[in-house]
Amino acid sequence: MRLGFSGGSKIKQLKKYLVVVLGIAMLMVIAMCASTLYQSYRQTRFSAVTNAGNVTLISQRAISRNLEMLSLSLDTLAYRYQHPLSVQRLDESQRYAYLFGSMAGVAHINGLAVVGASGEVLASSRRAPGEAAPNYGDRAYFIAHRDSARVGLYVSRPIRASLGNELPVVVLSKRLFNKDGSFGGIVMMALDLAYFRDLFEGLSLGDDGVISLYSDDGIAYMRIPYREDMIGRDASSSPNFQRIQRALQHEEGSFFARAISDGVERLYTFRRIPDSPLIVFVGYAEEAIFKSWRKTLYVVVLSLAVFALLSAYLLWHVRQELRRRVAIEKRLEELALTDGLTGLLNRRALDEALQAAWERCRRNLNSTFSVLFIDVDYFKLYNDTYGHKMGDEVLQEVAQAIAENLPRNTDCAGRYGGEEFVVLLELTDGQGARLMAQRLCEAVYSRLIVHAASPLRVVTISAGVATLQREHHRRVEDVLNAADAALYRAKRDGRNAVRVSGAD
Ligand code: GH3
Ligand code: MG
Ligand code: MG
Repeated sequence: MRLGFSGGSKIKQLKKYLVVVLGIAMLMVIAMCASTLYQSYRQTRFSAVTNAGNVTLISQRAISRNLEMLSLSLDTLAYRYQHPLSVQRLDESQRYAYLFGSMAGVAHINGLAVVGASGEVLASSRRAPGEAAPNYGDRAYFIAHRDSARVGLYVSRPIRASLGNELPVVVLSKRLFNKDGSFGGIVMMALDLAYFRDLFEGLSLGDDGVISLYSDDGIAYMRIPYREDMIGRDASSSPNFQRIQRALQHEEGSFFARAISDGVERLYTFRRIPDSPLIVFVGYAEEAIFKSWRKTLYVVVLSLAVFALLSAYLLWHVRQELRRRVAIEKRLEELALTDGLTGLLNRRALDEALQAAWERCRRNLNSTFSVLFIDVDYFKLYNDTYGHKMGDEVLQEVAQAIAENLPRNTDCAGRYGGEEFVVLLELTDGQGARLMAQRLCEAVYSRLIVHAASPLRVVTISAGVATLQREHHRRVEDVLNAADAALYRAKRDGRNAVRVSGAD
């Protein structure tokens, strides 16, 4: 049996809209956060590169100027040594002062010397009188100048010379030219590497930041924070250095790399020192660069998570509320359409169902419907005998018997009023409707509800059947009246009976 209720479709739509709107809002917020985070990541990275680049540039210039000054000192030594006329008149100590003068006293310059064409030391700021002169003919810097006139200032590798100084030294050297341009020996200077340490010390490079000086073939000259074990180390064989070497082909640049010495990932910027094999590196720890950016990232991700959770909670809450409302609405709709005592359709719903059936048949001429008008027999007597309350229970039982015996979805039954019921059978002709009416009469009879005051001894019903007659019926009420008239005949003919309008 049909009891059609169509509650809550609007609310369901509202629910859908809410999910869509919240989903779009969520996506928009995520997209905005991601874009802002990406922009600030790029900005942070750009600032770090710029900043490190500036420190590198200043360091490069400082080293370059210093090397220039030291180179000039060597030139001065060479010039003075090569003008013996003025030197010859001087005694030993005056000669020492003339050649090396204040240069020998400069901090971190550990020694100055003039070396002859075959490697013999001709004059030295360190040699005590009478001490045997060493020969530097086999040293790399000596050989480099001997073999080429175009070396300029030669910077040696860090050397652990026993000069009493705390750090290794580098030897800076220049070639001496004879008047005919041939090789005339070298002038050299031993420079304590602390010279560069003092130059870099005090630079603020953030947590785990480094500044270092390497030769382009991977030899470490200096590193701040200072680590003695790293000075003179050859990094050229490390895969990291080999990877970086591609970048080092340029005069300057930057790259991210993990340091072999301490495993810290850093942004390195570098610059070559002009006219030398040296490269200065400034490294900012990746962790330090993105520290505050990461904090922002965590805050944003956390806020998004809270937002998502709140949205989910809100959605769940709204869903619960809407569900509750759908249920209430459905219940209200049911109450508005059903009869309180029997649970069948009430008079209003029944009228609507009859009207709808009538309209459908008007549109579709092949369609038809039948109506059963049912009335409980001798019911006044039942009430009089057993009381009104028992009478109500009988009405409920009769309604149940009717409902249980309407198998089709398109059939519906309602309480017309008092102890009268109407059953609407769509797509059912008179023959089928009569069978249905008989079935309902039998269903009520077979319940054997005792009715001592009735001649039949049990509660029975009578039914009048009418089927739509297009030529006679002008309104749906005409069909109903025909069924009512048939019912009157069933009553007249003894009750517990079925009569069909226009037949019998
Ligand atoms: P008939 O066989 O000719 O139908 O006789 P009847 O007594 O059933 O018919 P009548 O119309 O004389 O009486 C109908 C009675 O139904 C009157 C009223 O007391 C009773 N009735 C109507 N509505 C209700 C109801 O809701 N509950 C109860 N208990 N009785 C009702
Ligand atoms: Mg009646
Ligand atoms: Mg009656």
